[in-house]
Parts: sequence; structure tokens; C-alpha cells
Amino acid sequence: MSIQTIMVIGAGQMGSGIAQVAAHAGFQVILHDQSMSFLERGLGNIGKNLNRQVEKGKLTEETKGKILSQISTSTELTNARDADVVIEAVVENMQVKTEIFKKLDEICQPHAILASNTSSLPITEIAAATNRPEQVIGMHFMNPVPVMKLVEMIRGLQTSDEVYQTIEELAKRLDKIPVSCKDFPGFISNRVLMPMINEAIYCVYEGVATPEAVDDIMKLGMNHPMGPITLADFIGLDTCLYIMEVLYEGFGDSKYRPCPLLRQYVKAGWLGRKSGRGFYVYT
Ligand code: NAD
Repeated sequence: MSIQTIMVIGAGQMGSGIAQVAAHAGFQVILHDQSMSFLERGLGNIGKNLNRQVEKGKLTEETKGKILSQISTSTELTNARDADVVIEAVVENMQVKTEIFKKLDEICQPHAILASNTSSLPITEIAAATNRPEQVIGMHFMNPVPVMKLVEMIRGLQTSDEVYQTIEELAKRLDKIPVSCKDFPGFISNRVLMPMINEAIYCVYEGVATPEAVDDIMKLGMNHPMGPITLADFIGLDTCLYIMEVLYEGFGDSKYRPCPLLRQYVKAGWLGRKSGRGFYVYT
């Protein structure tokens, strides 16, 4: 299958990064969100990233202009009819995602592949909202998308071999390294990472150490490039909480219970870097 046009749904942290790498790889990209203000913020982030690359001499002004010209914006989901592949990157919420997939299934051309960038939600369940479950797949990019090499490739129970291979090839064309994983809660990345972040938040909650101390210990002692509390702020505390809930419900094991402090911060709207405040304050 020849892929020309990719629609990215959600112009947040992840969606804007995915749109950037897809345009850089030469695809026509339609970036979709609920309103122009979200799209403007997403395009603004892409512009800033590209400017940084130009300053570092990694990109010419001309290439930057070409990348930006390949991204069009959309606030109408019906624009998905032009896409060969749709990559969904909206909030980590099953109801929101299945509603979008149901609509996409009606709008998209029969050959179109529907991928989700979900961090933890079952691909099989998302696929079941459509009449083309064999054409639904998990394509889990890492944050920040333009920098991180991995794409965790999640096969739903019904994902076809052909679709898997097409998307594996697409990941490589985006200059990423695809690694395969089965469809179980949290896949591999977040099943291993998120309990560590949750435990780090428990350490703060129980007063064992400050966020700074927890981060320093993991950076200096374990050689982690970023401490777990900083990483949680970076990922988004709402996303962290949602993933812990998926693990807790999916495995029914109390070791995955989300820390009450994480819940409280999310209720307060302290979502991390993206809202200006999480465990740290961002100005
Ligand atoms: P974000 O909050 O930065 O962005 C989400 C975007 O989706 C927002 O712009 C919002 O307006 C838009 N949106 C919400 N509902 C929509 C709808 N119905 N139609 C169109 N747009 C809609 O979130 P994010 O961090 O970019 O995460 C997006 C997805 O990527 C989630 O599934 C998350 O689990 C996954 N993910 C996140 C990370 C991370 O580190 N943040 C890493 C890998 C995967």
C-alpha cells in the first residue's frame, strides 16, 4: 500500500510531534484538533522545534519551510476521507478514543489504516469500535517524538500481518525503530515505567523525600537521564494517572493502585509541564 497522506488527530504534545516527523519524512499531513486554538498551539510548537534545529545547523530554512508547508490543519473529522493512515493522539480516555474510531471507520476510505498512539489502552477494544479491526493497530511513539527513536508497535488480536508490516515500514520511514509487543495493559514501556513513577510519587506523598531528592537519587545513582518526578511532569500527570488506572483495572493487582497524591494533583489541574505546574513549577 502506498501512503501519501497521514492524518494526525490531536495537536497536543504527541500529535504535534508526530505531525512534524511525518511531514519531515515527506508525507502530506493533516493535523486535526477540536478547535483552531489547539491547532495554533500545536503548529507553534512544531515551529519552535524546527527553529531550534535550524539554529543548531541541522536543518536549512528551506527544508523548514517545506516541512511546514506539508502540514494542513483541520477541525472537521470528515477530512479523514483523504488519509491513507490516521494516527490518533487525543487524550488517554477510552470513551473519547472509541467515539473517534467509530466515526473514522465511517469516514475513511476502505484501505485506510487506523492507528492509535495510546500509552496503555487495549488496541483490541479500540479496534472493536470499528468494522475494520484488522486495520487497527497501536503505534506508540515516545515523548518528545522528534527525538525519541522507539515506536512500540502493538498488534490487536485481529490486526492483520499486512497492516502490521505496512505500519512497521511507515515507522522506519519516519526514522524510528519499531519494536513489537502484544496487546496487554500498559504494553511493555508503561507496564515497567509507570509503577516506578507511581512509587516515586508515593515516596513524596509519604514524606520519605522531596521531589528533588527522589529525582537526584535516581539520576545520580541509577544513571537515569531524568528523575521520575520530572519525567511524570513531562509526560503529564493526567496521563500518568490514567495509565495507572488501566494497569490497576487490567491486572486487578493492588500493586498498581495510583498514589492518592497523584490523584489530588490531577484534580487540582496541576498536570505538569503542559499546565505550568505539577510537582515542579514551570514559568
Ligand atoms: P495532550 O493533552 O498534550 O494533547 C491531546 C490533544 O487532543 C489536545 O490538543 C486536545 O485538544 C485534543 N483532543 C482531545 N479530544 C479530542 C477530540 N475529540 N478530537 C480531536 N482532538 C481532541 O496529550 P498528549 O500528551 O499529546 O497525549 C496524547 C496521547 O498520546 C494519549 O493517548 C497519551 O496516552 C499518548 N502518549 C503520551 C505520551 C506523553 O509522554 N505525553 C507518550 C506516549 C503516548
